[in-house]
Amino acid sequence: MRCPACGSEDTQVTETRVSEDGVEIRRRRRCLACSRRFKTVERIELSLPYVVKKNGARLEFDEKRLRASFLLALRKRPVPAEIVDAAVRRVEEQLAASGEREVSTQRIGELVMLELKRLDKVAYIRFASVYRSFQDVAEFQELVAEVSPRQGSKSSLKISRKSDKKR
Ligand SMILES: [Zn+2]
Repeated sequence: MRCPACGSEDTQVTETRVSEDGVEIRRRRRCLACSRRFKTVERIELSLPYVVKKNGARLEFDEKRLRASFLLALRKRPVPAEIVDAAVRRVEEQLAASGEREVSTQRIGELVMLELKRLDKVAYIRFASVYRSFQDVAEFQELVAEVSPRQGSKSSLKISRKSDKKR
């Protein structure tokens, strides 16, 4: 591993940590030439299916796009980056485990929705309202009722809609 500061290959591992779910190893390293500290991550490379869009176009799976969907829905929400990383990872693992060679953008959207439902209700409603492009108001309200605590479901709906419009 080459030092990002000076390019020396003479680096030392100072700490090794396996992630809780066991799929990742993170190492802290120190450059022996310039003392710069940096981190590396080692993980299993998943073989992911091609993504098929609504218009039939096939694209290579792109983790950045998946992450961007999460980040857009979670904008200004109090969800730490590691939690988002883990959610992205879980979606990828499910896709890889399916063994399919192709996956529709719709299926990916559903997996993202399931993760958001667990992570953050406001983000879930944001994502779902765009993604499902509601046929009518009743359908939208049904979804809100589904994720809101019994009392005050109306007010959380208003908040999430307002903040979406502001951008
Ligand atoms: Zn260095």
